[in-house]
Amino acid sequence: MKYVLSIDQGTTSSRVILVDQHGKVVSSAQQEFQQHFPQPGYVLHDPIEIFETILQSINNCIKLSNIQVADIVSIGITNQRETTVIWDKATGLPVYPAIVWQSRQSDEIIKKWCAQLGTSYIHQKTGLVPDAYFSAGKISWILENVHGVSQKAQNGELLFGTIDTWLMWKLSGGKIHATDVSNASRTMIFNIHNMCWDEELLAAFNIPKSLLPIVQDSCSDFGFTDPQICGIHLPISGVAGDQQAALFGQTCFNPGLVKNTYGTGCFMLMNIGDTPVISNNGLLTTVAWKINGKTTYALEGSVFVAGSAVQWIRDQLGFLPTAFDSEKIASSVDDNGGVYFVPAFVGLGAPYWDQEARGAFFGLTRGSNKAHLTRAVLESMAYQTRDVMQLMQQEAQLPITEIRVDGGAAMNNLLMQFQADQLQCKVNRPENTESTAIGAAFLAGLHVGVWKDLDEIRALRLDDKVFYPNLSNHASDEFYFRWKRAVEACRFFK
Ligand code: ADP
Repeated sequence: MKYVLSIDQGTTSSRVILVDQHGKVVSSAQQEFQQHFPQPGYVLHDPIEIFETILQSINNCIKLSNIQVADIVSIGITNQRETTVIWDKATGLPVYPAIVWQSRQSDEIIKKWCAQLGTSYIHQKTGLVPDAYFSAGKISWILENVHGVSQKAQNGELLFGTIDTWLMWKLSGGKIHATDVSNASRTMIFNIHNMCWDEELLAAFNIPKSLLPIVQDSCSDFGFTDPQICGIHLPISGVAGDQQAALFGQTCFNPGLVKNTYGTGCFMLMNIGDTPVISNNGLLTTVAWKINGKTTYALEGSVFVAGSAVQWIRDQLGFLPTAFDSEKIASSVDDNGGVYFVPAFVGLGAPYWDQEARGAFFGLTRGSNKAHLTRAVLESMAYQTRDVMQLMQQEAQLPITEIRVDGGAAMNNLLMQFQADQLQCKVNRPENTESTAIGAAFLAGLHVGVWKDLDEIRALRLDDKVFYPNLSNHASDEFYFRWKRAVEACRFFK
C-alpha cells in the first residue's frame, strides 16, 4: 500500500492526514495555534508557531497510523490563502509576523493603488477585485512599516511567501523557494493570462522581484523535505490554496462543476475550464490548478456570514446547545412561518456589495418561536448561495446541474434539502467531507503515479448523500422572492 501525507494549514489550525491509495484517510492529527489581534483590524499569526504545529501534526499523524515512513510516497500541501510571510534568507527568521488574509492593515495601500492605477486595470490582469485581503498590499505594508526591511529587500536579502511557500522552505531546510499557480493567483501581482509575476504591477507596487518564489504547476516536483523532518527525504509534489484544493478534492474536473463549502462563511468555486472569464459583478477569477502544463480557471464567490450566524444564535441568543442541534430544532416546525433572516453582520457581498447594510429578522408574529428563527437562519445560507450561484451561472454561461458540498454546516440535512429546493439542482455530499486535505493528497499522488489520471481519482470520491429538489420551481421562487424583499428592506434601514 502506498500513502500520501497531506498537510492542511488553515486559519485556526494545522491539520495533517495520511491517505492511502484507495483515497481513505488512515490517520489524522490537528493542532490549533494562537491568533493575534494587536490593533483593531489587524490579524497576525506567528510563522514559527505555525511551522511547529505542522511538525507536531506530521509526527502525530504518522505515529497514529502505524505505517513505515518509507511507505509515504509523496507530500501534498494546502493552505490558508493570501496570508503573507517575509523572512530573512540568511537567518530564516520572519521580519514581521504573518499578516493573515483577514487583516485589514493594508486598506490604505489598496485605496492608494486603486486611485493610481484604477481597479479595473488590476482586476483585468489578476482576476481579483483589489482588496486588503490579497498578499500584495500586505507585502507593501511590511516593506513600508518595518524598520530596515525595505533596504534589505532591495539588496535581495529577503524572501516572500504565502504559507505554502513558507512551509516548503522550512520543510526543505531552506532549499525550496516555490509556490504553485493557485496560490500565486491570490497575491494580486500574478498575471493569470500569461501565468507569470506581472512586471508592471511589481513596478507600480514597488515590490522587488527578488522577493518572489518561483511559480510551479500544482502537480510538480517542488523538492524534498529535509531528513530531519521524517527521517528520510520525502518529495513534495502537490500544492494548492485551500479553496482550489477543495474543488480538486470534490473532483470538479470539468467546466460547470461547482463546489460550495459551508463553514464560517461559504466559498463557492466553479470550474470554468481553460479560459479566464473576468466577472463584472464582483466574483473573482482565480487559477484552480495547472497540471501537465494545462491551466484550469475557476470563478469564486463568497458569502461572508453562513455558519457563523448559527454560532450567533447559539452563543448570543442562546437558542441552541450546539450548532448540530440547529437541524433538530428547525425541523420541529413545518416551515419558516414567514420569518426571514438577513445575516448582514458585516454588510452584504455578491451580488449586493453593500458594506453598510446590517442584519435583521423579518416577518415576526406573536407565534414566531426559536424554531422559526433558527430555520430562517439556516435558510439564509441557502438563499445567499442561490444569489452567488445565479451570478456565476450567468457570468460563466455554463448551466449548473449539481453542486458538491462540504464544510461543517453541510452536515445539516435540513439545510442541504432546502438548498436543493432553492437551486433546483442536485446537492451532492461526499462520504469524506475533508475535501481540502484530500484535494492536496490527490494532487501530490497524481504527480507521483499513485493515481494514474483524473478518471482514477474521480472514482475515489464516494457520495454520502445526494439531495434532489423536492419543491416545485414555483414554490421555491416564492421563498426566494420573500428573501429578496427582506434583503431590500434591510438595505433600506441605515
Ligand atoms: P471553518 O472551517 O470556517 O471554521 P467548519 O467547516 O469547521 O468551519 O464549520 C463550522 C461552522 O459550521 C460553524 O460556524 C458552525 O456554526 C457551523 N455548523 C457546524 N455544524 C453545523 C450543523 N449541523 N448545522 C448548521 N451549522 C453547522
